[in-house]
Amino acid sequence: GTMPLLGAADIRRLAEELDVRPTKTLGQNFVIDGNTIRRIVAAAHVEPDETVLEVGPGLGSLTLGLLDAAAHVVAVEIDPKLAAKLPDTAQKFRPDANGRLDVVLADAMRVTELPREPSALVANLPYNVAVPVVLHLLEHFPSLRHGLVMVQDEVADRLAAVPGSKIYGVPSVKAAWYSQMRKAGVIGMNVFWPAPKIASGLVGFTRREPPATRATRQEVFAVIDAAFAQRRKTLRAALAGWAGSAAEAEAALRAANVDPGARGEVLDVEAFARIAEYKRPPVA
Ligand code: SAM
Repeated sequence: GTMPLLGAADIRRLAEELDVRPTKTLGQNFVIDGNTIRRIVAAAHVEPDETVLEVGPGLGSLTLGLLDAAAHVVAVEIDPKLAAKLPDTAQKFRPDANGRLDVVLADAMRVTELPREPSALVANLPYNVAVPVVLHLLEHFPSLRHGLVMVQDEVADRLAAVPGSKIYGVPSVKAAWYSQMRKAGVIGMNVFWPAPKIASGLVGFTRREPPATRATRQEVFAVIDAAFAQRRKTLRAALAGWAGSAAEAEAALRAANVDPGARGEVLDVEAFARIAEYKRPPVA
């Protein structure tokens, strides 16, 4: 297509202009390759009337691609220099973006208010906080129906993992509370400046109804945390602290129709929701 995107020379020039030295703590690796942006935008399946939430727009690589696909982009950036520059970049490369981009200077792990209700999340996430950011946004912005995020490849696999697989764990189960996650590709290291040391992965998601349960989300998440805190223990042992004793844990597991000798990594989110109900007996 003809969508105007940032290339390596643009990124270098912008970084120089802003005197930006990419920091590891903020996971600042900027995409310098237009084909990667086209791939991410295509895989995100954004409809022309959607409002997209982008976390960490950085120098604007993905933002420009999203402005091509969506009606509106809300970009949440924690770095004041980058946030301040983004409207100029959008204006320069896409004059039609006028009025279609909101830049919010905030920490995406804490943000609870946005100028618009986004229906999609599309982001090249800062890798060290990718999972908490995704969970926070799914929890606080119910308008998010679907999305696609780029994360460390191993984290992409974890988010999309199914019960019984080796890498299935806390991120997999918690993500499944909100959504159905699917791996949508692998991205090499050389499409970034600076290049990270590990490959990246794409994960797409579609929101689902959370499991029907009398327990609250927090109560279910407490069981998930307890079950995986001691990964190699049986659920009977791992949940003894949560339940009060191994006998109570066994009772909770039996009531939920779960084998007390099994391990957490075989349970789907519905099973965790049933176990959590042990502390919430049905009202007579
Ligand atoms: N989207 C750009 C791209 O693809 O080139 C930059 C992606 S870079 C991997 C991550 C971006 O997230 C950086 O711009 C960084 O400053 C920003 N960031 C880091 N932590 C953040 C947080 N907690 N909330 C919002 N933005 C954050």
